Amino acid sequence: MKVIGTPEEVHKESLRWKHSEYVALVPTMGALHEGHLSLVRRAKRLAPRCIVSIFVNPLQFGPNEDLSKYPRTFEEDCRKLEKEGVDAVFAPSPETFYPAAFASKVNVSHLSEHLCGRSRPGHFEGVATVCLKLFLSTAADFAIFGEKDFQQWRVLQRMVSDLNVPIRLVAQPIVRETDGLAMSSRNRYLSADERQAALAIPASLQAARDAVKLSEALTVGELTKTVRDRLSATALRIEYCDITSETDLVPQAAERRIIEIEKPRLFVAVKSGATRLIDNMSLGKEGT
Ligand code: AMP
Repeated sequence: MKVIGTPEEVHKESLRWKHSEYVALVPTMGALHEGHLSLVRRAKRLAPRCIVSIFVNPLQFGPNEDLSKYPRTFEEDCRKLEKEGVDAVFAPSPETFYPAAFASKVNVSHLSEHLCGRSRPGHFEGVATVCLKLFLSTAADFAIFGEKDFQQWRVLQRMVSDLNVPIRLVAQPIVRETDGLAMSSRNRYLSADERQAALAIPASLQAARDAVKLSEALTVGELTKTVRDRLSATALRIEYCDITSETDLVPQAAERRIIEIEKPRLFVAVKSGATRLIDNMSLGKEGT
């Protein structure tokens, strides 16, 4: 497995492969867990060549967020990826990827505006910009993303379509711990009590999904209130709890019935102690 530090080098390597083979990219910020590895395994089923990028992207962190504290476990990550048979790790330094004169940003309007876009201004601009750079640097045929960051996935689909980026994006379902907590690099920050409180997130999402199956009359207001009440009964602090259609990600009005929404999905962001956690679940008949 090669470890590559510059966009020029990863581009050269990828073009060599692309003469005869497809190349799949898995963009990550490292501190890898089974959720990331599920994307790698999907990549390997899609293409004979797999590049994993590890880059903690400063552009997508706000001034009061955890950029400097974000977990960095590069050696351990490389060992995991080597075991998965990954061909190359692309890990540029921030200075290499964003030289001093760097001045361009990609803005994807509408889909970036609600949910995490509201609480993290500029976040999706940072995500779209780094992903476009990763797509162009690696010249990958496929890129794999997790539904854990569902809004990110929808924003990037829009960008790729709008800008005719020659890549196919593929989504993978959320990988959860056995007790239901969505895997996340940030889970390692949680104390035992904070982790225990965080279990109310998957429990309330699953209960909401079950409730929708039982009652066709349920409204957005009724369902979000149940979820909010359950989350508020713990030490969690709610940032948002919204139901949207997967198509536009606009929070639906309280009186709207869930069954009237096309591809309804419930989104939650909370803080457990100092750690921000997000999760989501489909409320539709199909979907995860
Ligand atoms: P991150 O390193 O947090 O930027 O995540 C890199 C990629 O892994 C993104 O596409 C995430 O959606 C995906 N990912 C993170 N956690 C999970 C999970 N628990 N299940 C599936 N995909 C995940």
